[in-house]
Amino acid sequence: MRFKRPKNTLEGEGKKSRLFPKDKSQTKDKKEKASREKVNKEAKINRESKDHKESKEEIYCKKCKKYISRIDLEKSLHICPFCNHHFMISPKERIKILCDENSFVEHNQDLKSVNILDFPDYDAKLEKAIKTSGENESVLCGLCSIGGCETAIFIMNGEFMMGSMGQITGEKISRLFEYATDKSLPVLGFSLSGGARMQEGIISLMQMAKVSSTVKRHSDQGNLYICVLTNPTSGGVTASFAMQADIILAEPDALVCFAGPRVIEQTIRKKVPEELQRATSVMENGFIDDIVSRKAQKTYLGLLLKMHERKEVKNASI
Ligand SMILES: [Zn+2]
Repeated sequence: MRFKRPKNTLEGEGKKSRLFPKDKSQTKDKKEKASREKVNKEAKINRESKDHKESKEEIYCKKCKKYISRIDLEKSLHICPFCNHHFMISPKERIKILCDENSFVEHNQDLKSVNILDFPDYDAKLEKAIKTSGENESVLCGLCSIGGCETAIFIMNGEFMMGSMGQITGEKISRLFEYATDKSLPVLGFSLSGGARMQEGIISLMQMAKVSSTVKRHSDQGNLYICVLTNPTSGGVTASFAMQADIILAEPDALVCFAGPRVIEQTIRKKVPEELQRATSVMENGFIDDIVSRKAQKTYLGLLLKMHERKEVKNASI
């Protein structure tokens, strides 16, 4: 008996799949892919539950592989009491640790990124980042005083798309430098970034030049710029304003690089030493002036700002 495929009818289309089934190898591929994904997912869950069984009370330190009480960690300024690992902290927490009480005033907090290139899923990612970080962008900018010295400050936020540098990140930092140049104020920066934001393409890369030009104008007026590199500082941020400061400091063991170790390993197909691109090794090679623990930063930075205070400008304005 011969089957005849009905033409141009919905019924025919429906029957088509039954009478002329799809290529079997395609179905097999799909099944294999699904089972592979399932295995990977289960392995990931097992790995996470085995290695990082974090709870509301305890947090896991990836460096020394120990559990620390969240209360103790907060008391120790988010530094692991066992191995001195500096955990990532939010800009608001850093302000609490560093600035004189109630001295911080935020600038340009309402500026928000837009999906200028219509990049797929970028809108959803931005929305999620705003929700998880509680901030509108990957950098917090403003004015504060440290040890009684007034300074402009920017702090990059790891919770917002891993501190990636988008158009608004560059705009906020540029505006801060312009403000500091006008008022003859020092700028203190805390860098943390995975690099330029790929969803904004060339526009994110252009921020490197934009911020750099404002750093130059600020410097030409004889103003001080200090940058503290925190873990991780990489990509376009390292390649521009993070490394253009007059005084460059770093937190202990911070990763400071352009391309990260994984990218290098994939390129040269060799394992790179663990300490490569870490603060100590970067300092030994002359890129960093000093490594300062979070506990000492308030005093250290307060002293630096005091030493470089522009008395003649202050007196002139009185
Ligand atoms: Zn630890």
